[in-house]
Amino acid sequence: MLCGARTDASICCTTECERACVQSGRPSWWVYLYGYLTLGWFGATVVGASAGEDKESGKDRIFPLPLRVCGACQKRLTSPTEVKAALNLVPLYRQLLNKYPDAKVSSPLAP
Ligand SMILES: [Zn+2]
Repeated sequence: MLCGARTDASICCTTECERACVQSGRPSWWVYLYGYLTLGWFGATVVGASAGEDKESGKDRIFPLPLRVCGACQKRLTSPTEVKAALNLVPLYRQLLNKYPDAKVSSPLAP
């Protein structure tokens, strides 16, 4: 892939595009306070009743991306930056990395 050598060797680059982040649907204490101050206990009750479910925004998007790299080139892929550059050579992975520019690429592991 990198040097053009024919190889059956491949590595697996775990790419973390996005982590799920769970947001609490419950209002903050100051929202209760505000409700209480403006409408009394009724206000606080309304705020409490409007509390939603915990929302999960986003999902864990972690992809093990197989990359065909010969043994010599594998040794060159020592830093995440180099791995990312190698992944960018694959059109499909390039699309993914363009979509998630902050994706974290971990050092390659032999499958
Ligand atoms: Zn090579």
